[in-house]
Order: sequence, then structure tokens, then C-alpha cells
Amino acid sequence: MTATDAGTGLWDIALNPTATPTDDATREAVLADPGFGRKFTDNMVRAKWTAERGWHDAELVGYGPLLLDPATNFIHYGQAIFEGLKAYRHADGSIKTFRPFRNAQRFANSARRLAMAELPEELFVGSIEALVREDREWVPQDAEKSLYLRPFMFSTEIGLGVKPADAYEYLLIASPAGAYFPKGIKPVSVWLSDDYVRAAPGGTGEAKCAGNYAASLIAQAEASQHGCDQVVWLDAAERKWIEEMGGMNLYFVYGSGDSARLLTPRLTGSLLPGITRDSLLTVAADLGIRADEGEISIEDWKEGCASGEISEVFACGTAAVITPVGEVKSRTSGAWTVGDGGTGPITARLRQELLDIQTGAIPDRHNWLHAIC
Ligand SMILES: *Cc1c(COP(=O)(O)O)cnc(C)c1O
Repeated sequence: MTATDAGTGLWDIALNPTATPTDDATREAVLADPGFGRKFTDNMVRAKWTAERGWHDAELVGYGPLLLDPATNFIHYGQAIFEGLKAYRHADGSIKTFRPFRNAQRFANSARRLAMAELPEELFVGSIEALVREDREWVPQDAEKSLYLRPFMFSTEIGLGVKPADAYEYLLIASPAGAYFPKGIKPVSVWLSDDYVRAAPGGTGEAKCAGNYAASLIAQAEASQHGCDQVVWLDAAERKWIEEMGGMNLYFVYGSGDSARLLTPRLTGSLLPGITRDSLLTVAADLGIRADEGEISIEDWKEGCASGEISEVFACGTAAVITPVGEVKSRTSGAWTVGDGGTGPITARLRQELLDIQTGAIPDRHNWLHAIC
């Protein structure tokens, strides 16, 4: 077990769950068709940070609205970060999360970049344990379903002065999840964003912050106008190098069969370092598939597909695990199809392998799973 996937001595969370939990029939109806991010479990965890007291008042309480002063700092200046991970119910009824200490570390990195207080990983993982244990009935049984966990933090100092706040609130909410993309694992079409950039060198591209998403929505809308499901981001300086897709990282498959190899854009500081991306570098090696990090340009992608050198492209992230990319369109570089536009065999194999590890269908050979209950 690597040090970064382990943890000791979790934070003490006071338990004050709701007195009026959802009845069984209503909950089962939600779990039958959960969608994504629409319904939430009965409880949430919250904790406060102030300059004088540090982190305090960590407690599990009933899910409910927040009361905010209109001059609360984050509403104006956007000190807000989040994470996303899932809890899976295994066949034996036990519940596990996938590499939660990695999310804890990334959350701390995001906080540092936005000049926010860092949440200790014992509190991050401790909050997940407390909420999943309390709301365990909300973790769906089927293999493609899970309980999506959304940790987030924002500044709560009241006042319009522009400076790092002196007070923060951490919250954890949970939402049962079906398949992320409504089309299931059917390939997505992507729009290369020539005009809008997501992140620039020295910016916040590496941080999982709310503002990155706010800045991305106009490009997502442009993609939809061109009949595409998702947007693909290019580097800010040359508008030439592929970075990532919407809220997911990208992988390119060169060749096929035994000679297939993978290439994923290198982490330059403007890409979000995905935990799924990182896990797939290892899973590919396990399967005997060479996987490298490097540079890939629009031209490389277009010409690679034309020559057949690039056989498959897929995106990866916690919410959708792996999603094949079938079609590419852009304003300046034209349109093309990846492979036959369908789901390629390497994409399908990696997806199944990672899902099997997460759901306990095969052994957890890298000690990535964290048992909760
Ligand atoms: C969260 C996120 C990802 C994927 O990260 P995972 O840890 O694999 O879920 C990729 N890109 C962006 C922009 C993200 O916000």
C-alpha cells in the first residue's frame, strides 16, 4: 500500500442525523432511476474554520438549506472548491470508496491555490466515513450505480473586502448516481474550443474550483449549438495542444491488439490531474498496454484518425468512468470520425477492468479501495 492511499486516525464527527429520514418506498423509487445529482441523501456533514479556532464543529446533520448573509465573501469573489468521488456497494453488501486520500490531497492543493484554509485529510475522509455509514441505505446495489460524494468548501467571511477570507465552511453531501451520460456508454461527439480557453499557465486549471466550471459553460453551450455533446479544451498559448474534455481527462489509443499503446496529455499545470487518469496509467500497465504521458496536437489527432494510426479516443473521470469519443468537430480544423465512431475494444477493456476493481468483481491489487462498512 502506498502512503498516499492509506490513512490513520480519522477526525471525530459529532452525529446529529435527521429525525425524519426518507421512508423506504420513496428512497427505493429514487434508487431505481437516480440520474445524476438530482436527489440527495438524508444527511450531510459540515465543519467550520476560523483563523482563531482552526477546524471545529465537525458534525453530521440533516440535509438542508444554508442561510447566507448577502455579503458572504465567496458569492462575490468565488473562493469555492469541490471534489467528486463515489461509494460502491459490493456483492457482499460492504461499501467501499475509491482512493479517497487522493481526493483529500487534491482538495488541499485546490485550497492552497485559492488561498483557502486546507482541510486535514483525516477530516475529509472522516466526513466521508461518517456520512456513508449513516446514509448507507442510499448506496445502490447495481454495478453501474453508486453513491456520488460531493465534498466542497467556500469562504464565509462577511464583507466585500478583496482578500483571502478568515472563515471557511466545509460541507459534504451525497447523491445516488446512475450512468452519468444519458446516452450510456455510447460514444460522445466533441467540439474543439478554438475561441474560449479553460485554463492558462499560472491560472487555476489544476485546482478543482467552481470558477473553472463557470468559465467553461459558454464553450459547452457553443458545443451544443454545433450538435456536440462535450467541449475539448486546447492550451491557452498556442491553441494547438489538446488538454482535456469538459470535466474529464483524455486518452488516445494508437494501434490495436497487442501493439496498442496509450497516450494521455501531460499534466502541464493547466489540466486537472484526474484520479481516474492516474489509475488508468497503472491499470493499462497491468494489462500489458504501454501508456505514456505526452503532447498531442489537433493535427496529430486529425491525421492520426485519417491514417488509422489512432484507433480509439476516450475520456475518463469519476462520474462517467470512461466515455468513448466518436466524432470531432471544430471551427478551424474541420470534422472527423475516430475509428468507426463506435466503442473500441481497448476502451471497453479498460473501462471494464477499472469498474471491476471499483465494484469488487476482481481483486483490489493496488489497495485502492477504502472500506467503510
Ligand atoms: C474532476 C475533473 C476531472 C476528472 O478527475 P477524476 O479525479 O478522475 O474524477 C477532469 N477534469 C476536470 C476539469 C475535472 O474537474
